[in-house]
Parts: sequence; structure tokens; C-alpha cells
Amino acid sequence: MLTRKLRLVGIVVIMVAVGTMLSSCTEEKEAKKKMDIEVKQFGTTPDGQKIQLYTLRNSKGLKAEIMTYGGILVSLQVPDSQGNMGDIVLGYDNLDDYIKNNPYFGCIVGRYGNRIAKGKFSIDGKQYSLATNNDPGGIACHLHGGIKGFDKVVWKAEPVEQKDAVGVKLSYLSKDGEEGYPGNLNCTVTYSLTNNNELKIEYLATTDKPTAVNLTHHSYFNLTGCERDILDHQLMLNADKFTPTDAGLIPTGELRSVKDTVMDFTQPAAIGARINSDYEQIKFGGGYDHNWVLNKQGDEMTLAAEVYEPTTGRVVEVHTNEPGIQFYSGNFLDGTITGKAGKVYNHRYGFCLEAQHYPDSPNQPNFPSTVLRPGQKYETTTIYRFSTK
Ligand code: BGC
Repeated sequence: MLTRKLRLVGIVVIMVAVGTMLSSCTEEKEAKKKMDIEVKQFGTTPDGQKIQLYTLRNSKGLKAEIMTYGGILVSLQVPDSQGNMGDIVLGYDNLDDYIKNNPYFGCIVGRYGNRIAKGKFSIDGKQYSLATNNDPGGIACHLHGGIKGFDKVVWKAEPVEQKDAVGVKLSYLSKDGEEGYPGNLNCTVTYSLTNNNELKIEYLATTDKPTAVNLTHHSYFNLTGCERDILDHQLMLNADKFTPTDAGLIPTGELRSVKDTVMDFTQPAAIGARINSDYEQIKFGGGYDHNWVLNKQGDEMTLAAEVYEPTTGRVVEVHTNEPGIQFYSGNFLDGTITGKAGKVYNHRYGFCLEAQHYPDSPNQPNFPSTVLRPGQKYETTTIYRFSTK
């Protein structure tokens, strides 16, 4: 059931009371009482497009705010082990700051998450040229979909009500040739906040020409509630191998064992424990900025990563049906960004866990394919599940 309210300030607020189908037990009544979706304006882009902010609340008090610009997760409130809520993602208080300078805080990344060497790839013998908008180690490449990737476009949005979750379904048609990619790509990304304390992200895409697709989500998490850097967070990655890169952060094509290296997170380890080591891969990334090859078969859902923050007891698990995960330790944050509530985001103030296909797959015949053809459905799911210990 959808009821509409007009606030005095002229903000249109749509409250979605969820759970009309729930049966009568007390817990479900509670869920019915508390889950909701609220929509309000979050500013206007320089070209006059009005941006909406969706606030999702689940029955346990978790709250996620997602805006239609870039599909950005603006805030995510989860409890610590004492029940205190804290916002655990980096970002800004207003739209203008996101437009001016966003190192991909909280956004949907597309059409291609991470890097494509020299901004070039070919499909069926036809070569495509993309913008080279990044140059780690002085070597130019294409990053995160280009100059105006999916993180900078305005998505259409509609509320989604489910028995045990509230969500927002975002849609975007990326036109044939946009940022150099072939094919009209019809995308939907649905964020849901479930009553199991999960932020679930479902990606769907179809195309009318063969193209390359690799969509992901780019929140910078900080489970302290963004109080200090992330070096004491304990990380586990369910991966026996990773894809080493060259100095330009492009995979060499090798799948290398993590055994006896600083890349081994098969047992939980503090992110900061080995981050300044002399291991060449760490030097290239200025810290961790690599794709791990998940221990899994096919496209079943797997636990990919788990992070525990000892002072608050907060835990996030990442589950995905993707073959890889990029763990980025916020190495390019350097204190020049002041984010929400006036907090300065110093070096390594947030970490990203981006479930994905491996970087540069369009140029790497040995990696799982990222080619999507007409008639095929691109369909992936990633779940961030929150709890405490
Ligand atoms: C990449 C980093 C990049 C960052 C941008 C990550 O996904 O791996 O190399 O600098 O995104 O915020």
C-alpha cells in the first residue's frame, strides 16, 4: 500500500507501508510497523535534473539511503554490539559534493567495473576504443566505465516492497556508443534492505549488440562508524588465488597462489598488518588494490569475504555469484576530502569489496568472459550481510 504525504517544506514524501501480506504473528506485525520506504528530493544536477533520495528502513532498525544520481548508497546505519547505530559508509552530505569530486563513493560502477588496458578491446574481430581516464604508474587505461560512467548518470527509480525486504529498483538505458561501448544496454539494479540485515544488490542487463559488461558496487566501508582508518579491521577473503597486475594495475593474466604472500587472507588478518610490505604487488597498488579469485565453481552464491571490526564488534559478510572480488584499501584517500559530518577522510579511511568479473577480462582470453550477447541475460547478485560479534 502506498500513501503520499506532502511536507510543509514542499518536499514530497512517499511513505510505503510494507508488509500488507504478512500474517498475524507478533514479529511480523513488528516488521509491518517498522519497514518503510521514504522518498525525498536530494538536490538538482547542473543540467536541471531533480535527484531523489530513497530511505529504506528494515524491521530491525537498519537504514539505507540511496540516491538516483549514480545509484549511490549515501548512508548505511547498522548497529554495533551494544546496539548503537552508526553510519558505516563514506560519502558526502549533499549532491553538489558528489558531483564535484567523487572517488566512486557508494556508486554503481558500469559499464565495466575496474580497468581495461589502454581503453581498447575487441569482440568478434571488431575493435572498440574507450576513454583512458586513469593512469596508475603513468600508464593510461580505462577505469570504471569511463568519463561519465554509471556512477554519474541519473537512474529512474521505483520502490519495491517484499514480504521481508524494502527496496528501490533503479533503471538506466545506456545508449549504443555511450562511452565507446557497443549496444543499447538496458540495466536495472535493485537494492533491497532485508529483515535479515542484508543489503542485497541485484543487477540485470540485456543488450542489442555484443558488448562487455561488468557491474559492481563501490561503497567505501568503515565499520567503526567512520571514526578512524580501517587498518585494524580483520579481513577474510575466500580466495586461494589473486590476479597479479603490472605497474599500471592491469592483470598480467596469471592466477597466482596467495600462499606465503601478504595477499593471503584465507585466515582473518588485520588489513594493516602487512600493508606496507615490500611485496611488489603491494608497491604497485600503494596497498591492496587487487582482484581475488574466489574459491567457487560456476555462478553459485558463495561467501566471498568477511570483515570484523574489534572495537564495535561490527561484521560484514559479502556473498556473491561473481567469480572475483576487488579488495581496495582506500590507498588514494589522502586527507584532501572532507566528507559527511565534517570528517576528514585520511589515508586508508575506507575499504571497498567490489564483487566483479576480473579486471581487463575483454583482453584476457583465460579469464571468465564478460561478453554479453543479444538474447542473453546478465544477472548477478551480491549481498552485504551485517551482524555483530
Ligand atoms: C580501484 C582503484 C581505484 C578506486 C577508485 C577501485 O575499485 O581498484 O584502483 O583507485 O576504485 O576509487
